[in-house]
Amino acid sequence: MADQRKRSWAEPYKIKMVEPVRMISREEREKAIKEAGYNTFLLRSRDVYIDLLTDSGTSAMSDRQWAGMMMGDEAYAGSENFYHLEEAIQKYYGYKYMVPTHQGRAAEHIISQLMINEGDCVPGNMYFTTTKLHQELAGGTFVDVIIDEAHDPENEHPFKANVDLTKLEDLIKEKGQDKIPYVSIATSVNMAGGQPISMANLKEVRKLTNKYDIPIIHDMTRVAENAYFIKQRENGYEDTPIKDIVREICSLTDGATMSAKKDALVNIGGFLALNDQELFRKAQNMVVVYEGLHTYGGMAGRDMEALAIGITESVDEDHIRARVGQVQYLGEKLLDMSIPVVRPIGSHGVFLNAKKILPHLTQDELPAQTLAAELYLDAGIRSMERGVVSAGRNPETGKHNYPALELIRLTIPRRVYTQAHMDVVAESVEAVYQQREDITGLAFDYEPEYLRFFQSRFKKL
Ligand SMILES: *Cc1c(COP(=O)(O)O)cnc(C)c1O
Repeated sequence: MADQRKRSWAEPYKIKMVEPVRMISREEREKAIKEAGYNTFLLRSRDVYIDLLTDSGTSAMSDRQWAGMMMGDEAYAGSENFYHLEEAIQKYYGYKYMVPTHQGRAAEHIISQLMINEGDCVPGNMYFTTTKLHQELAGGTFVDVIIDEAHDPENEHPFKANVDLTKLEDLIKEKGQDKIPYVSIATSVNMAGGQPISMANLKEVRKLTNKYDIPIIHDMTRVAENAYFIKQRENGYEDTPIKDIVREICSLTDGATMSAKKDALVNIGGFLALNDQELFRKAQNMVVVYEGLHTYGGMAGRDMEALAIGITESVDEDHIRARVGQVQYLGEKLLDMSIPVVRPIGSHGVFLNAKKILPHLTQDELPAQTLAAELYLDAGIRSMERGVVSAGRNPETGKHNYPALELIRLTIPRRVYTQAHMDVVAESVEAVYQQREDITGLAFDYEPEYLRFFQSRFKKL
């Protein structure tokens, strides 16, 4: 890392088309955030200067991808683009079969319905919102088997997404292998802050699951970012090409769900990939019910072409170094400014520790929601709350869930912003940090019943 900082690096692309962004005045921002009920999800995009709400579907496509869009074969059945996508998945990920879906959660729906029975347990290395929900809708219960270090925002473990093998084996013994339809393994775990699983740990998980004859289903949404960390941190992989690491990860699993809106550099799309032919036939049959014919599954031909090309680009060495490098650049800059952030810096975003930045606010005064609103006020930067608001209420007691962490996520879209934007973000965080003692909290003004973080409105205390 120190070496990287000595010499400057630059984005491995030049800009061919621009989309103007503007910073509106402080008065206008005050009006906009008030009208949005201090919820960044309710801001209009036109009022945002640098949008770090999410890395989902916000990537910039390349000239090659846009050229591919013009080659869309919009046949209802057997589109040429489907075969290009199938080839890319076989070549770069090594899975034998795939069905396209409109996005990741549709693939999760199909695999959960096909594999999970009422009363089953699905162990995984930390939950993801949609993944867990589909497992539950299919009658299963998610069980977290990630290592304890993953739950500590200051623990510097290099592979915080590793599975605790004892937790996993104990669960298998307790429930019985028949009650465990598969183990759910995510690469670069989102909810842990974009943290990787090591190849060595994945191999151990494979060994253990082989022993009990349990398949592994891979949430491969950020597999290339995980591969980059393996190359950086794991002995024996320093000189292995990213694309080989990605293939090796996939080879240790039996199937995968993909939200192509992240690593695979498209604005919409996903797929379910499988090695088992019988399961694949069932998935092909199910996709016609919920998504569309098995050769388009909810995607236009042109979108499948852009995805096929995006997969190729996602494992390019220069691309992935710059992608994760940009996130690291912002994170290290904030660390240099002594801003409390989750460590190690993740692959797709930097998480600010709002509890530490605003220690004078109780959790009922919504520190992370407050910090997100203040960051928008300072320079028009949009981030996302991950604290008590996102955690919702306990359905039995009706009380707030109080998560250990109050974070805001600065999520970096791929190939969209430059290093100069990162500098502006860091300076804005620092400015807010310097005036932190004067910041007052928020209270709920309107609270919807489901997934309240999207639509709640707040008022200043
Ligand atoms: C985004 C995401 C999903 C869901 O995918 P969608 O395309 O949003 O439906 C699943 N898993 C992970 C890890 C994700 O980040």
